[in-house]
Parts: sequence; C-alpha cells; structure tokens
Amino acid sequence: MTTILQIDGLRKEYRKSVGLVGRLLGQSSTSLYAVEDVSFSLRAGETLGLVGESGCGKSTLSRTIMRLYEPTDGKITFLGEDVTASDGKSLRRIRKNMQMVFQDPYSSLNPRMTVREMLAETIRFHQICGTEQELDDYIAYLLDRVGLHVKDADKYPKAFSGGQRQRICIARAIAVRPKLLIADEPVSALDVSVQAHILNLLEDLKKEFQLSLIFISHDLSVVKYISDRVAVMYLGRIVEMGTTQEIFHNPVHPYTRALLSAVPRLDLCKREKIDLEGDPPSPYERHKGCPFVSRCPQRMPHCEREIPPFAQAGETHQIRCHLA
Ligand code: SF4
Ligand code: MG
Repeated sequence: MTTILQIDGLRKEYRKSVGLVGRLLGQSSTSLYAVEDVSFSLRAGETLGLVGESGCGKSTLSRTIMRLYEPTDGKITFLGEDVTASDGKSLRRIRKNMQMVFQDPYSSLNPRMTVREMLAETIRFHQICGTEQELDDYIAYLLDRVGLHVKDADKYPKAFSGGQRQRICIARAIAVRPKLLIADEPVSALDVSVQAHILNLLEDLKKEFQLSLIFISHDLSVVKYISDRVAVMYLGRIVEMGTTQEIFHNPVHPYTRALLSAVPRLDLCKREKIDLEGDPPSPYERHKGCPFVSRCPQRMPHCEREIPPFAQAGETHQIRCHLA
C-alpha cells in the first residue's frame, strides 16, 4: 500500500508572553511544548487511531499536520508534497485533499446558512460542479450518502440533532473528495446511541471514497472499534504505536498498560488495574529523561536521565521506553 502521509520529527511549541510578574522576575517568554518529536506514516485506506488523555497534544498534532498551526520543526509530506514548505495555491490543493471533522458539530456550522448554502459554498470554492443542475444533484447525492434527506437541504443547523449536524459536517468534508479525513473526537459530544451510527457512517464512506482516516479520541473502546493501527500519545509524544491487535492485546509501554487497565472490559488479558501516581508533569518544561518517569510503576534509575528513543519492538510495533 502506498504511503500518503509521512511525518518526520514534528514539533510544535507555543511561545507565550509571561506577563507582568514574569517580567519582574526577569523572564522574557515561556514555551508550551505541545508536540515533541512525532514521526509516523499513514498508508492509503488506513485508519490510524490517536489516543491519549486530554491535553496530550492530539488536537495540536492534527492541526499542525494540516498547517492550521505552523510547525516549529520537522517535516510533513502528503501525497509526495512537502506540506511544511507549501504556500498559497499548493497549500490550498493540499488542504482540499485533507479535510477535518471536529468534535463540536454545533460550532462548526454557520447558524445563518442552510445546509444547501454551506455545501454549495465548499463545492463552488473547489470548482467541483459545472452547472447549477449538477450542483443540486451533487448536494442531493451527498445528503443521501450521509443518511439525510434531500428535503433537509433548505433547513438551518438549528433544525437538526447533534448526530445529524455531525452528518452535515461529514458531508461537507467529503464533498471535495479528500484523500485524508482527520476526525478530532467526532463522536465525543454525541449520545452513546448515536455514536455507533456515526462510526459506521465513517467506515462506509472510508471504503466508498477510498479515504485514509486519522481518528482522534480519548475513548479507547471507540478507537479499538474503528482503527487499523493505534498511536498512544503522552505529553506531546507518541509513546507506543502498533496494530490495533498489538496495542490492545500486547501493550508494552507502562502508560499504555495503565490506560488499558483502567477500562476493564477492554483489558482483554485481564490485567490488574494499574494506578498511576501523581499528575502528568508540566508541558512548560523540557524533560531530560522519560516524560513518564514521575508516574511510571516500572521506572529505572536511567529513565530520569535519558529520553528513550522511539524504537522498533516488532515489525509494526514501536515503543518509546527503555524497557523495550
Ligand atoms: Fe517507565 Fe522508564 Fe519506560 Fe519511561 S522509559 S516508561 S520511566 S520504564
Ligand atoms: Mg483535543
């Protein structure tokens, strides 16, 4: 299978001004290290699940891949093009092929536009349809594909439920026939009964439109359901990555094991619950050793001093831990 997305050593750092107190203390600015040294590739037609606690950098990573945020360092290659070096026309073409669906369908839709107006705006911008008749037909087709009715086209977002609004967002994203869809917590704001319908819709569209999918969630059961491979993030870094089978049946990183043990019905090996001590360390600090050391039940003396590399633990399995 061809690689459609390649990420190498990606970093995103937010510089923040320190305010009056900081200036009085002689500081000039401070940095939040949101994404640190992330590398992975994504193949055509593949679904990669990105998991981790909130604030671990999942959303920043996805927005940096799309260059909605400027990367601090590293390289992003999408369909053979260097995203980091693109601008103007080439960046617009890249973004057409990389669409995003967000967590909150309520705020992603313009309350003053009908569904037809919103879809038409995107379709016209990317010059997908020639005539008005083609446009109408295409909108009817898209609504049907996401499980809505053609009569819904003339309604405003307030007429729809949360799940229906997410369907509209998905219709708008696939309208431009992207190669990659990044879904950032797409079902987290929805009722559990609606979540499965949206997940199944994404699965169907993935096959029909030959999409690759990056699926971001803090919900492990959802990620297990939809992903071919899974990346586990902690404090801005991917700490373990492997096939869904490897991550859920044979997790190696102590953080992954603790995450899984907290969801008993997912812990297929019936491990004991691993309680993590303490809080994650501050993302405002650069770490000399393993970022997980303060909470790790298996820490060793040299974990404090050396950052573990992201090393191969099997053909498709990578781990950032000195145990590997
Ligand atoms: Fe724990 Fe050390 Fe592995 Fe970090 S490198 S996860 S501290 S064992
Ligand atoms: Mg997020």
